[in-house]
Amino acid sequence: AAKSGGRGRSQLFHAQMDIDYHYRQRLKADLRDAVADGELSLAFQPLFDIDTRRVVSCEALARWNHAELGPVPPATFIPLAEEMGLISDITAWVVKNAARECSQWPGAVGVAVNVSARDFRGLDLPELIDAALVDSALPAARFEIEVTETAVIEERELANRTLKTLADKGIAIALDDFGTGYSSLSYLNALPFTKLKIDRSFLVDIATKPRALRLLASVARLGRDLDLTVVAEGVETEAQLEAMVAHTLVQQVQGYHFSRPLPARDISELIARFNSGASKDQAAENRKH
Ligand code: C2E
Ligand code: MG
Ligand code: MG
Ligand code: MG
Repeated sequence: AAKSGGRGRSQLFHAQMDIDYHYRQRLKADLRDAVADGELSLAFQPLFDIDTRRVVSCEALARWNHAELGPVPPATFIPLAEEMGLISDITAWVVKNAARECSQWPGAVGVAVNVSARDFRGLDLPELIDAALVDSALPAARFEIEVTETAVIEERELANRTLKTLADKGIAIALDDFGTGYSSLSYLNALPFTKLKIDRSFLVDIATKPRALRLLASVARLGRDLDLTVVAEGVETEAQLEAMVAHTLVQQVQGYHFSRPLPARDISELIARFNSGASKDQAAENRKH
């Protein structure tokens, strides 16, 4: 194999491109039916209050388990759905089901739904969300949406109007993956965000590199100064959590350290486990298992 050198590698490269191409073509051919036939499901990942370690809300994340190809990551099929004009159907389905699941959870735990740039044009989001809230008797205060900077930039005017309408109803609006993409700070003021989700790339080195921790602390401070609820995504270790507790103004945390995204049927139990009784001790206890 060492002998094959450049040509072999190039053949391998092209073979991989063919696989990717055919994989995507196959997914494209099957996605429309998958949406129509209910092959999509939702996973939920909890967000915790950093002080009490109680579950505040859960983020709904779309899952597609392809009958033959197995699980397809949302980072793959969501962009395909956007290309194919299917994203509105998916978002409408996610909103409805996320609200329905949330209404079954113990306490006042909220639910967050990711919205695409295309949804601002393809859907009447306020009407859709209103209907879902009425359908599941869920107060607006328990519903959140997450948008990325890219989504906002692509549909600036429409996004602005839609987000204002939603915010006026008491729906929380999170700016997702903050710090990646364009990161134009002026968007933080131009649009009615109530929450800032700092991208997990900011957390990677915080337990070992003081400058990385100071950068995260500065971003969190920026969010707090603008009266936003500040969330850190992608907390994977106890060391990262401790660094944030001691040195930043992060208020909520989400990540594999606490819980992976779970199937809907497992969420009520997780919430009950973390939110009953002496939650902080309980959280430490739960993490051991
Ligand atoms: P996101 O909205 O930023 O969601 C967080 C992603 O980070 C999820 O990936 C989650 O599983 C992952 N994650 C959470 N904690 C950790 C951690 O500690 N370490 C690491 N390495 N990753 C962590 P997932 O479920 O694969 O979703 C990827 C992206 O796909 C989402 O990023 C979101 O942009 C998009 N997406 C997922 N579901 C939907 C949906 O229903 N609608 C839309 N429009 N987009 C969706
Ligand atoms: Mg999100
Ligand atoms: Mg995110
Ligand atoms: Mg992210």
